[in-house]
Amino acid sequence: MRVALFALGGTISVAGGTPRLTGEQITAQVPGLDGLGAHIDVQDVRAVPSSGLTFTDVLDVVAAASRAVAEGAAGAVVTQGTDTLEETAFLADLVWPHAEPLVLTGAMRNTSLAGADGPANVLAAVRVAIAPEARGLGALVAFNDQVHAARRVRKTHSTSTATFRSPDTGPLGHVVEDRVRILTVPPRHEPLPYRPDPQRLAANRVAVYTAVLDDDGTLVDDLARGRQGLVVAGFGVGHVAGALAPRLGALADRIPVVLTSRTGGGSVLRDTYRSPGSETDLLSRGLIDGGMLDPWKARVLLRLLLAGGAGRDVIAAAFAVRG
Ligand code: GLU
Repeated sequence: MRVALFALGGTISVAGGTPRLTGEQITAQVPGLDGLGAHIDVQDVRAVPSSGLTFTDVLDVVAAASRAVAEGAAGAVVTQGTDTLEETAFLADLVWPHAEPLVLTGAMRNTSLAGADGPANVLAAVRVAIAPEARGLGALVAFNDQVHAARRVRKTHSTSTATFRSPDTGPLGHVVEDRVRILTVPPRHEPLPYRPDPQRLAANRVAVYTAVLDDDGTLVDDLARGRQGLVVAGFGVGHVAGALAPRLGALADRIPVVLTSRTGGGSVLRDTYRSPGSETDLLSRGLIDGGMLDPWKARVLLRLLLAGGAGRDVIAAAFAVRG
């Protein structure tokens, strides 16, 4: 049995000084990995903090992992920094076309610290990658012996090794000793057919505007200038101050504007409140319902769609299914 492992840097590659650990060095530090009966094909792709990763990096890894799976790998593992992992995992999930698991992981404590969690996370990720129970679940995040759906998972704490949580669903399952226990199987959507090239990605940028108390709203226009899409991280169920609603409506005439919640859990609403700046007001002005996607994941989906050439109707339909 083979597993393809792609190393992209992050805390899991930090040893307290420079240079960073390679993928081979990361896997060599994992007690018990040899005993899993899986040959790990390691590829070093990037060696960067995850804030430096790009959509193209992720799509290139997905393409390489796809090739590995097509050539017989049981699954694929990606090691990277945790800071952007909730976004990279979701991007990978949107386009991952295989039943074989694509499992992302990393570490919160680097290898020079007591209780470094990278080795345990790699072991769990490989266990998930080869587990028959994890097939058909898309891209997964294995961390702290939990298994999370890429679509639901968020980084919720700046330092805790239990930082990854799925506020709306909880984890899909757990790694218990040598077993992968999947307790919940989420609905799976068709993979998006978009494989935009770097130029099309570069030409399609999406900004996130976060609603804040007593904002005069001028930032909205500045943010959207030169952008092809905007995500609004609204208050609560998808609200902004009333004075901002006409500004957002005017923008929605020009570019796709997706409405989400800044709260970190739950959905925006569609038909409950009627004040200026409420969800019904904003949707009637042409904003697109982001559903249960948080602002960061909505931005990933919107940018992928735009870079794939989707127009407003296709974008709204995609959010209706995936939001
Ligand atoms: N937590 C950081 C990340 O997400 C690690 C920074 C580093 O690798 O230097 O990548």
